[in-house]
Amino acid sequence: MPTTPPAAGERRNPSAHRADAAPAPGHPHVVSPHYGDAKTVSPSLSGHNPERKTAPPFIPGRRARRVGTGEFLSPQKGAKRLLHDGRTSKQRKIGTLIEKKPQGAEDDAERASGPRKRVFIKSFGCQMNVYDAQRMADALAAEGYVEAAVPEDADLVLLNTCNIREKAAEKVYSDLGRLRVLKEGAAREGRRMTIGVAGCVAQAEGAEIVARAPTVDLVVGPQSYHRLPALLARTAKGAVIDTDFATEDKFDFLAQPSRAAIRARGVTAFVTVQEGCDKFCTFCVVPYTRGAEVSRPVMKIVAEVRRLVDAGVREVTLIGQNVNAYHGAGPDGATWSLARLLARLSEVPGLARLRYTTSHPNDMSDDLLAAHRDLPALMPFLHLPVQSGSDRMLAAMNRRHTRADYLRAVERLAAAQPAIALSSDFIVGFPGESDADFRATLDLVAEVRFAAAYSFKYSPRPGTPAADMAAQVPEAVKSARLAELQAAIDREQAAFNARCVGRIFDVLLEKPGRHPGQMTGRSPYLQPVQVMADAAEIGSIVPVRIDEVRVYSLLGRRLPAQNPTTDGAPHRSDALTAGA
Ligand code: SAM
Ligand code: SF4
Repeated sequence: MPTTPPAAGERRNPSAHRADAAPAPGHPHVVSPHYGDAKTVSPSLSGHNPERKTAPPFIPGRRARRVGTGEFLSPQKGAKRLLHDGRTSKQRKIGTLIEKKPQGAEDDAERASGPRKRVFIKSFGCQMNVYDAQRMADALAAEGYVEAAVPEDADLVLLNTCNIREKAAEKVYSDLGRLRVLKEGAAREGRRMTIGVAGCVAQAEGAEIVARAPTVDLVVGPQSYHRLPALLARTAKGAVIDTDFATEDKFDFLAQPSRAAIRARGVTAFVTVQEGCDKFCTFCVVPYTRGAEVSRPVMKIVAEVRRLVDAGVREVTLIGQNVNAYHGAGPDGATWSLARLLARLSEVPGLARLRYTTSHPNDMSDDLLAAHRDLPALMPFLHLPVQSGSDRMLAAMNRRHTRADYLRAVERLAAAQPAIALSSDFIVGFPGESDADFRATLDLVAEVRFAAAYSFKYSPRPGTPAADMAAQVPEAVKSARLAELQAAIDREQAAFNARCVGRIFDVLLEKPGRHPGQMTGRSPYLQPVQVMADAAEIGSIVPVRIDEVRVYSLLGRRLPAQNPTTDGAPHRSDALTAGA
């Protein structure tokens, strides 16, 4: 049985992929892929490391600068209130109407008028937040904001938050404690610092945030980012809260990034194609904080991708909370699937690579499998979360698939694309998880031979069904299981990487490496690859023979262009068949 992909999407460097692992030497931004970590964005911030998560040193991410340690104020009460207030993800309120901005494109400098204000955005969590932070930065650039390198220098500090686990939510309050001190210091100097909280904690807690942290001037939910400039203008009169689910499509109102901003973010980019989730796994807050599943229309996505590619982007990762459930309006009036969208995007001249994340096993449709077989631009690496190897736990989680269903999806993928590798997400210590259930998860890891995976201790989220389930697993048991699972995943990942040695991969050159003359690129499996190359070649895809596995990257030798390119999966002949 085959293997895995990492959370696609992670990127860092303005546009790369990120990982939850410890930063690599020479890869200051190598962080784990999603969830719970923090990163800064463009105007550009920095990120930091997620809590624990398993591993993958190979999925880079941006590290966020910590802005400080403050008093921790539990966010849970507020979250409970939100989730219990009777509002469901399908009940969308009418949001404030705003004037539509022309989509496009003058340079930031031309758009700005008056003295520049400085913004610092710190983003936590998944790749959706990375993308959102960029779009907020774009909206603010259109208003004349430029990036502040550190929060101390900023007129506006935005925390783009994650509520997926308690620890991620807690970080917001400790950061707010530090920001309060900075804000008071700025006031003593006669300078106004505005502090905003965006993202899923903002959506979940709303006004509760201001009640607990009165230093906050603005609370803005993910569906209201297009209103950011107007909301900021109102903060002069007092704290502003906007957590409405807008009826208008925020993407129609968000300013597009300038060409300069796109270039500064690098040669890879995320594009949100779908938001929200209708699946309601019993542990997960996403359906409550991000709302019901909504897909963007095909041609708006095509236009955004074209614009990115015109500015030098070579690889696009389509993102969504349930991206393979995509069902967007096509130009022919029909509803298009993700497979059809991918096929359309693969025709965009200059776009070399496509990825998508995050997927649900139940939505691996036949046409999507065929896309993996038929579209050379679609990279053979897929993040396919499974959460548990135990049918009993999968049922309690309301995953709506069994272990056998998951294994069947993996087999079908491997049949369609033998070079495929997989990554996944796991939760240990879900309520009622027995030792036998946990062993079933370890068995699944051994059977599928994931190339990478992320694992988390179950974190009760107020308002979700699992938080009220009996038989919560003791913290010490969760910790022990997490350590054991991570060790197993690390072994699989090391084996996967070892199988890469001697292979020839097409490597997308992304940025200068650690040493003079060295460049860092990305393999089809999202592994950072160090290779000697010229900085002028950033954005090129070059054949590289992999010589060595380092702690956080592969080391390779560039081959002449006429050499055969990628020879397929590192495990095509061994991993896939050996595990099958
Ligand atoms: N939509 C994706 C799917 O269905 O697999 C996952 C999206 S979720 C934002 C990302 C990951 O966070 C999940 O796959 C799960 O492993 C983890 N996660 C979500 N809620 C969690 C919780 N309450 N405790 C621990 N991990 C959680
Ligand atoms: Fe959360 Fe489940 Fe939806 Fe994924 S499918 S976002 S885990 S509710």
